[in-house]
Amino acid sequence: MSQTNHLISAIRAAMPGLDAPLVTHPGGGMETYGDALAASGRLANLLVARGVKPGDRVAVQVDKSWTALVVYLAAVRAGAVYLPLNTAYTLAEVEYFLSDAEPALFLCRPEIEAEARALATRLGVACVETLGADGTGSLTRAAQGLSPDFADVPRGPSDLGGILYTSGTTGRAKGAMLSHDNLLSNALTLRDYWRFTRDDVLIHALPIFHTHGLFVATNIILLAGARMIFCPKFDAGECLSLMPQATSLMGVPTFYTRLLDHPGLTPEATAHMRLFVSGSAPLLAETHRAFKERTGQAILERYGMTETGMNTSNPYDGDRRAGTVGFPLPGIDLRVTSPETGAVLGTDEIGMIEVKGPNVFQGYWRMPEKTASEFHDGFFITGDLGKVDGDGYVHIVGRGKDLVITGGFNVYPKEVENEIDALPGVVESAVIGVPHTDFGEGVTAVVVLAKGATLTEAQIHAALEARLAKFKLPKKIEFVADLPRNTMGKVQKNILRETYKDIYTHVA
Ligand code: AMP
Repeated sequence: MSQTNHLISAIRAAMPGLDAPLVTHPGGGMETYGDALAASGRLANLLVARGVKPGDRVAVQVDKSWTALVVYLAAVRAGAVYLPLNTAYTLAEVEYFLSDAEPALFLCRPEIEAEARALATRLGVACVETLGADGTGSLTRAAQGLSPDFADVPRGPSDLGGILYTSGTTGRAKGAMLSHDNLLSNALTLRDYWRFTRDDVLIHALPIFHTHGLFVATNIILLAGARMIFCPKFDAGECLSLMPQATSLMGVPTFYTRLLDHPGLTPEATAHMRLFVSGSAPLLAETHRAFKERTGQAILERYGMTETGMNTSNPYDGDRRAGTVGFPLPGIDLRVTSPETGAVLGTDEIGMIEVKGPNVFQGYWRMPEKTASEFHDGFFITGDLGKVDGDGYVHIVGRGKDLVITGGFNVYPKEVENEIDALPGVVESAVIGVPHTDFGEGVTAVVVLAKGATLTEAQIHAALEARLAKFKLPKKIEFVADLPRNTMGKVQKNILRETYKDIYTHVA
């Protein structure tokens, strides 16, 4: 039995001093590492008083705030399993998560308290507390008089620290179980790879219910003894105004396209920044190039997922190559296998990306068969298709389920998207497979044009004809103002497939 709390003891060891700032707010105000210890101590005492035992889940659906961050620390200190939920989930969706995870406590926004209590009673969730965006609610009221001292509950490396439900664009959402060491090993690796130190100030504008904003951004900062500026949400103007006091930004690709749309993005505005990280969705090579041109800074793109934390990263020193996600991180094995035979493929061959390492999760909550089917000789099957090039850089060409099979040929959407995106007047595109009476699936492109661009379907088709094999050419090209995206900036191809599902089969 472990004598220490694996994750928390590492955070304690890295702490710069109780008076050092941990979080500052764009509008003013700050909290120190000492505040984090005291506040999480009080809340951990409250969790225990509410009956939360080691291994119990603490489900949390609240707005981003300092106190919400402290709840994460409190849950882990109490030996519980932190389970954050996207604030966009409806009550009906929350019902599924609560019935699946059976938490000992559900922390919700004050606005839904009555419905949450009724739901909890129905599902047998023993305790409901509330927390508002301003830090008020039943949780903080109840914790007020409690002691800030709390003896961290011992937890070993393989004990669970968190469960994150995967965004699951298809099928039932699955709870990815992450151990203390999954979280700690990945954050330490990234801290060192990206050179985070006590001198760093991160602009934190991501949500904290997702692995990117919570386990990557927050854990790195805690383990570096650094500081973050906590923005409730991303705003390009605000982000630019914070850059002179910051050193780094972690964002999804949309952050960078919005920054590029802002006239304030200049070399001077970004001069104090040493690192721009992008991930969670593909960064267009064009965005990478445009950002470099405007600011002189090369965005560092990395690749990861809920189940694994981060797997690859472009180098800190060295060539950050647009359109690639860099190299496997130290301690992580990555290989590409044939989706048909499972054989390991060679350089430049496209197949299924599989990973193995201390970052790989413990399995899906209460789904042992599903978990077993996602592993292949000890490697986790990511579901992403990609390749490793001759220089060792990993390229992602799309999700396995996004692969289009048309007339028996495989078409990797990314290859077609890259060609379309390179055309003048195109902002971006998404290529999907849509049921087709003759071909099984028809390659279909959904294109966003720049303001004022007049490109037609026929012109795009003509341009692609010279570049792509005939079977890869879109059979139809649809124009839209924007691509549908989820909160993490991912294009929701399932929505596009649904929208255009009848275009080849519908007989008028
Ligand atoms: P999530 O579990 O929500 O973090 O989603 C993980 C998925 O996001 C991965 O399996 C990839 O499909 C995608 N993803 C994350 N980072 C990148 C990236 N840099 N480039 C392309 N796809 C990415």
